[in-house]
Amino acid sequence: MHWLDAAIERQTTRRAFLIGTGVGAAGFAFGQARLHRTLAAPTFATDPFTLGVASGDPAPDGFVLWTRLAPDPLVTGGGMTAEDVEVRWQVATDDAMRAVVQESTLLAQPEWAHSIHVEVAGLEPDRSYWYRFAAGEATSEIGRTRTAPAAGTLPQRFRFAFASCQRWPDGFYTAYRDMAAQELDLVVHLGDYIYEGGITNGVGPRKPDLAAEVRAEATTLARYRLRYALYKRDPHLQAAHRNAPWLVTWDDHEVVNDYANDNAPPRRDPREFLNRRAAAYRAYYEHQPLRWGTIPAGPDAQLYRRLAFGDLLAFNMLDTRQYRSFPTLTCPESEHAANGGYCAASRDPERTILGAAQKRWLLDGLATTTARWPVLANQVVFSRWNLNADPRTPSYGGSGDKWDGYAAERDAVVRAMAAIGARRPLDPIVITGDIHSNWVYDIKADWDRLDSAPAVGTEFVGTSISSEGDVRGIPIIRCGGTAANPHQRFYNDSRGYVLSTATPDRWLTQYRAVASVSDPNVPATTIATFVAERGKPGAQQDGACPASQ
Ligand code: FE
Ligand code: CA
Repeated sequence: MHWLDAAIERQTTRRAFLIGTGVGAAGFAFGQARLHRTLAAPTFATDPFTLGVASGDPAPDGFVLWTRLAPDPLVTGGGMTAEDVEVRWQVATDDAMRAVVQESTLLAQPEWAHSIHVEVAGLEPDRSYWYRFAAGEATSEIGRTRTAPAAGTLPQRFRFAFASCQRWPDGFYTAYRDMAAQELDLVVHLGDYIYEGGITNGVGPRKPDLAAEVRAEATTLARYRLRYALYKRDPHLQAAHRNAPWLVTWDDHEVVNDYANDNAPPRRDPREFLNRRAAAYRAYYEHQPLRWGTIPAGPDAQLYRRLAFGDLLAFNMLDTRQYRSFPTLTCPESEHAANGGYCAASRDPERTILGAAQKRWLLDGLATTTARWPVLANQVVFSRWNLNADPRTPSYGGSGDKWDGYAAERDAVVRAMAAIGARRPLDPIVITGDIHSNWVYDIKADWDRLDSAPAVGTEFVGTSISSEGDVRGIPIIRCGGTAANPHQRFYNDSRGYVLSTATPDRWLTQYRAVASVSDPNVPATTIATFVAERGKPGAQQDGACPASQ
């Protein structure tokens, strides 16, 4: 059987199987017959819940619960035998798990690295729940999660954090320590959850001492699984997952640096690359609280999806990697000069970063949204960004990995935002990761008339959790526009994450920064706050510009 057909068969079997176990014994017997011996009462020499617990993709009536059994997480197989293991799960309305409202059993299977994805339904909207897992005598920690507000309601306040880029050897997850202490409705992760590259023992604040198979560049399913296990053992990351439901999407490093669609630089045999992508996507699914609808079929997985939180906000979770035109562009300065600052190909309307289906889905969603704040949860910088200090000789294409490398498509999205916004308030908010620094931009209706064109939306770019490690010297804080980028509102190079609070008429964004990621326990501070008012796209700074710290 072709591996793709085999993947589809597994997916179908697993879905039928999971649904079956939820409702009665028939599906259970089917699972046993088809797969492995089942251990109903496994015994573990050490705690199997070393990778923590997580929840995600909240709906008004439920969410996904996740864990993975791995008593020995940094060896291939996680210390588990090739047997199915019964895992019990419980959902309660209190943090001591006294008032259990749902519970059942699922099988953790070796094909899926003994991960568990429970789709819980039938709960009340807009409230907190607590959950835990058990296998044999072992019990997981208790996680807190929330259902989404009901459709048609207008919540008065919604508070979420967003984060990206957590290269493990570069530093501790100090920022997650602060995030885990916040009262949050949601956490959004914009990608680079893992980095695939090789790790050098002894280098960096964590002073790694890892076995060869864990250090090696992740290229196979076994190695991607080890990489997730390495990252997910971090106590601050686990605490942030226990604190709130997460909405995740990926960027490039979940597979390989700067990949696009079916290839990555340097160009290689796409079949070889797609095999690697299939392994990477599968390991991603296995380690995230995702719904069964995102189970990969070979190298394909539909991760783009929309989640609404009443009529207050809706997250369009974008995937700007899987469908984008290859290659990402770089070009000489002379080409910029001849093409208004772009690489010539950037303006080719055939080039796409979303792919045709996702683009249609996004534009349809913006046209019909009832959300006060439609959010584009996005990987790479969306706004035009002149890399040249002199506005007379612009250069937008030098880092063609971002939306400037797909300018024709970006500008089509901006025109759609402007057209919808001319008829009724739209107020799109783009949240972005990838570049390991904080930025705020007004999204302009016309990038060639930055001074006079109105803003049609607002972009908040969040820095890395740990990637690139501690800033050398004093962190830079720059408020307001520059000659080359008058639509820029803010720049800062600290490590940290972003806190956002949506209310019906006002959007508030706070940039949280940590002084060091060489120390896992230093506090975070808010270094700058921006607001967007409903019906007036664009950001205003709230308070004075802080001095560089
Ligand atoms: Fe990154
Ligand atoms: Ca990236």
